[in-house]
Amino acid sequence: MRRWVVCFTDRNDRHTLLKMPEISETHISCPYCGESISILVDDSLPEQNYVEDCQVCCRPIVLDVIVDVDGDVVVSARSENE
Ligand SMILES: [Zn+2]
Repeated sequence: MRRWVVCFTDRNDRHTLLKMPEISETHISCPYCGESISILVDDSLPEQNYVEDCQVCCRPIVLDVIVDVDGDVVVSARSENE
């Protein structure tokens, strides 16, 4: 009986994991104008590096995205010239 309950719980957890979104929204400060802008990060990849234009001043922001072992997304934003 107890075994059956454990098995059921495990299946439930798996169901929840499958439904978790892989895109998380995070906020950064633009290195040019200092405005806070929101970006969408695909946290299924452990390391990413890409350029996204600022939503306020339209200048290219270089984004370094790292997803750590706990699944936390760490984003650092820098200007293209650095
Ligand atoms: Zn900006």
